[in-house]
Amino acid sequence: MKLHEYQAKQLLELYGVPTLPGEVATTPLEARKAAEKAGGRNVVKAQIHAGGRGKAGGVKVVDTPAEAETAAASMLGRRLVTHQTPAGGVLVRKALVVSAADIAKELYVAVIMDGDVGAPVVIASTEGGVDIEEIAARTPDKILRVPGDPLIGLTPYKARDLAYALGVPPELVRPTADLIVKLYRLFVEKDCSLVEVNPLVTTKPSRPGQQPRIIALDAKVSLEDDALFRHPELQALHDPEQEEPLELRAAAAELSYVKLEGGRVGCMVNGAGLAMATMDITKWAGADPANFLDVGGSADEKRVEEAYRILVSDPDVKVVLINLFGGILRCDAAARGIVAGAQATRSDLPVVVTMRGTNAEEGLKILADSGLKTHLAHDLAGAADALKELLAASTPTKAPGQQARRR
Ligand code: GDP
Ligand code: MN
Repeated sequence: MKLHEYQAKQLLELYGVPTLPGEVATTPLEARKAAEKAGGRNVVKAQIHAGGRGKAGGVKVVDTPAEAETAAASMLGRRLVTHQTPAGGVLVRKALVVSAADIAKELYVAVIMDGDVGAPVVIASTEGGVDIEEIAARTPDKILRVPGDPLIGLTPYKARDLAYALGVPPELVRPTADLIVKLYRLFVEKDCSLVEVNPLVTTKPSRPGQQPRIIALDAKVSLEDDALFRHPELQALHDPEQEEPLELRAAAAELSYVKLEGGRVGCMVNGAGLAMATMDITKWAGADPANFLDVGGSADEKRVEEAYRILVSDPDVKVVLINLFGGILRCDAAARGIVAGAQATRSDLPVVVTMRGTNAEEGLKILADSGLKTHLAHDLAGAADALKELLAASTPTKAPGQQARRR
């Protein structure tokens, strides 16, 4: 689960990581008032579950409350497209109005889980503020990676080494090392999959005698979904508006649905292994899956019906491929679910079905008698053949005798 920047910063503050004070606005007027209250120079930042906002007009530095209002008006209620969002962008519902920092240097620091190392790893770079992927590709030696230890955490000396390597002024070495240890602790204790601060900045003292500071200017936190049950206080931070609507609807029905780009075949399966095999078969038949929907091992008629409804709501789906294995799931119940889903949605999409296991015969009979355009196959190879024929028929041929063009 992804968090918004303002929520991530609240978590950072909880762990003693310095950020700048700000307020969330949902209307331009609220943004104006927040800027009035804060005084001085502020930054208005669109709150979406994606980065790259700076380059896309989602981060604006403003000098007056009136400018804050205008900046917020240019963001709120619109879709912001960045290189990290889907092509259609993401709706901006909230803007963060935050005091502006006087930046001396922009740095990068993140904690991620590294499967190869088998531990959380701190990633840091002196090249913050810009695309870290680009730095990693062009100048990989500018990216530092320091693994923590699953049992003892991130030892202070490793954090100090990193702080030195980041080249912060001498008086900021200790605060920076401290900050890195705190980010690491947050990552572990809240079961995060990502804690990223880009940029982490050192500030220019604004008057003589003032100390420079190290501040998290931006923050991205993702929480591990499978561990969320351990953090009821964090579950409330979920913002469903930022997600694919069909994925949300599937999650509500305890189905797992994944949208895939560019395909035409909607796949319904039960079990992750079967999902993989079904996508392989789809590819083998010369097509691409538009999505896959896993109804789970113990689905019943109602859940299969909802699964079918979700599957055919995806406008990319031109053919449905259903591949079920009846274990705890009974194939007759699944068949009734499919028929109910097709009737409720009045979908006339062709459906290729293979079913094996508990009550498969009965299930196939229900489908055969249903009057739906189903193509019943005995096994996966048969399903692939049926799929090939259907796709060939639905793809316009260029000239007689020429093979149908497929993507
Ligand atoms: P992102 O593009 O979505 O990652 O949004 P960021 O919060 O990282 O902001 C993008 C860029 O805007 C930063 O790298 C900074 O250069 C600039 N920026 C953000 N906040 C401030 C601020 O308080 N003061 C100044 N001067 N620049 C800022
Ligand atoms: Mn950023």
